[in-house]
Amino acid sequence: MTTNRGLYIHIPFCSIKCAYCDFYSVAIDTDLVERYAKEQKKELSLVLSRYPQTVIDTIYIGGGTPSVLPISILEGIVGHIHKCASVNIREFTIEINPCSSDNLAYYKSLGVNRVSIGVQTLNPQILKIIGRSHTPGQALDALERAAGIYPNVSADLMLGLPGQNVEDVGCALNKVMPFVNHISQYMLKLSDDTPMGRAVNGGSIALPDDDASADMYDAGYSIMRQNGYARYEISNFCKDKNYSLHNLKYWNREDYIGIGASAHSFIEGVRYENPSDLTSYLGGNHLGNGKANSIILSKGDALFEYIMLKLRLEDGFSIDEINGLFGIDFLARYDMEIKSLCGILEVSGGRVKMKKDKMLLESYAARRFLPD
Ligand code: SF4
Repeated sequence: MTTNRGLYIHIPFCSIKCAYCDFYSVAIDTDLVERYAKEQKKELSLVLSRYPQTVIDTIYIGGGTPSVLPISILEGIVGHIHKCASVNIREFTIEINPCSSDNLAYYKSLGVNRVSIGVQTLNPQILKIIGRSHTPGQALDALERAAGIYPNVSADLMLGLPGQNVEDVGCALNKVMPFVNHISQYMLKLSDDTPMGRAVNGGSIALPDDDASADMYDAGYSIMRQNGYARYEISNFCKDKNYSLHNLKYWNREDYIGIGASAHSFIEGVRYENPSDLTSYLGGNHLGNGKANSIILSKGDALFEYIMLKLRLEDGFSIDEINGLFGIDFLARYDMEIKSLCGILEVSGGRVKMKKDKMLLESYAARRFLPD
């Protein structure tokens, strides 16, 4: 019997470091990139030999900045996927930074059918403050070119940025929407351990407060809705059901294999995490060699995870499904929690979901279902 699995390929290289970013990434270096790609191929072969029934049905190349990779390296990685995996690709996405979008058209020949472009904002002052290396014009140019090539184009936009307001959000959306059928609109989550985190803590940069950020989210959602985009996950919106099939696997707790430094996998109910440090990864500490951190979830933890991930989705989850999967009577077991969340949770038609105007309270609601 075969099992469909998503494949995530992590590229931890960036040409510059954005001021808000706490992901592990390093400057691009030819020798390092070659060694890294070689290790990734090795890891993929080893993982697939352990799970030979795998059929890869979605590929997502993310980072970091995958678009800084030399074409020959990317070709080698994609060629290797086809050599060692059974593939039946429904979706193949690559993330693109507007600053390194010269090869945008070429990715199509590798089988890419969806591109995700990191726009973040189109306010030039804010782009500078957050340390993005592109201009609004470069982002719009990349979007326009992508729209002429790919059936599916997504844009990433951020909310809660320094100096940002509702007008900025509307302005960016109105310029981006003609080119995309998918938008990720997500809140800045600032870590103290970043240049921007330190500037905010030191008082030299101020962020909008939670209410102002929530207003930006609501304004953005309203504009997208008026323009035919439906929300399907807290931060994700699309036209004509052009969901991100790969990312849906994460929220639906379906299997995926993550290859590369800091990549996560979820296989047969077990979560794995590779080390983020490149030296450790290149030394062979990864899932391929059975050296990733693994977390075998208890039934209680898996149940909580299911609720937490599914409540992110507009449609929430089916009561029959959760009862069947975990052998519980959800309504009886969580009677108290459901009653205490009656203002923000909707239980109707055999489903449990967040009320439409309460989506931003999802983490709060999910925490009520934490195991004892
Ligand atoms: S391009 Fe992305 S991964 Fe790289 S530094 Fe900026 S936010 Fe981080």
